[in-house]
Amino acid sequence: MKNQAMVMTDVRKFELQDIPMPEVKPNEIGVKVRSISICGSDMGFFDGKAFSIFPDSLPFVLGHEVAGEVYEVGSDVKNFKVGDRVALEPGVPDCTCDNCMSGRYNLCKNVKFLATPPYEGAMKRYISYPAFKAYKIADNMSFTAGALCEPLSVGLHAVRRGRVSVGKTVTILGGGAIGMCTLLAAKAYGASQIIVCDLFDSHLDKALELGATDVINSGNVDPIEKVKELTDGQGTDIVFETAGAPITASQTAYIVKDGGTIVMVGNILKEVPFSFRQLYRKEAEVRAVFRYANTYPIAIQAISTGRIDIEKVVSAVFPFEKSQEAFIEAIDNKLNCVKAVITIDD
Ligand SMILES: [Zn+2]
Repeated sequence: MKNQAMVMTDVRKFELQDIPMPEVKPNEIGVKVRSISICGSDMGFFDGKAFSIFPDSLPFVLGHEVAGEVYEVGSDVKNFKVGDRVALEPGVPDCTCDNCMSGRYNLCKNVKFLATPPYEGAMKRYISYPAFKAYKIADNMSFTAGALCEPLSVGLHAVRRGRVSVGKTVTILGGGAIGMCTLLAAKAYGASQIIVCDLFDSHLDKALELGATDVINSGNVDPIEKVKELTDGQGTDIVFETAGAPITASQTAYIVKDGGTIVMVGNILKEVPFSFRQLYRKEAEVRAVFRYANTYPIAIQAISTGRIDIEKVVSAVFPFEKSQEAFIEAIDNKLNCVKAVITIDD
């Protein structure tokens, strides 16, 4: 077995490099990587934007949405065997702090997260990984569906934080990959009306295909007024901000229904002008989402039973050798590319 990594050596540049096979520690499994889906944070590194937060991080290996096949099992690992197909949860928490002990391990300050410096990502042919953060995927699931358990986890965690349930009405601001995963999760949890707002018709068409009941092009019409019109003037029970922009964040308070919930999913770096007056008059609440916790088993169950067809978010598939093309497609064709995926055959 010969290992290779797709190493980011410069802005918008990958180099396929030979690397040693990983050492599989007693608590780890060796995984032959089969599918990696590209996330917005990977793109942030690839086009250089992430260097403001992580300077001097090159050379670096990206990729944290990953699934593969077990080729070796560490001596202490009992629940996996060679040949098992697995999805890897990219965050490995310390399992000892208060956050971990309370089940909110996504808030662990000592987490080792794939492709977040100083921890390398999974764009390699073979990696070793702690077995307790690997999940067997169902036989009827593709490796790509396994990799997509990661972004779907964000959507699942968001709808649980928003307490979406049968009959609830939902607005999703932002029709990118996380917006789409939130849409799929909201639908699976029984939302009766799902309104998606975005600036691009291509994203809105995709949202309709995935089950949105209404779409709004926020570039053409005022989304606040339009949501009111679609909901008898009430707004929706839950509003998700997934665009990561100050303008959509400030719209949430006007769109949420009396007594409703705003869920902040997007990563907003700038300050946001926000009407707390809107919030208190409605007794609405704001809840935040940081990654996810305890979602992989639910994601696998929802995909394998057909409740969520996660592969519908895939726009393009590239072989490992063409990772550079995959990233360029994902970044330069954002209008049409919801999710690009890299697969590794034998
Ligand atoms: Zn912890």
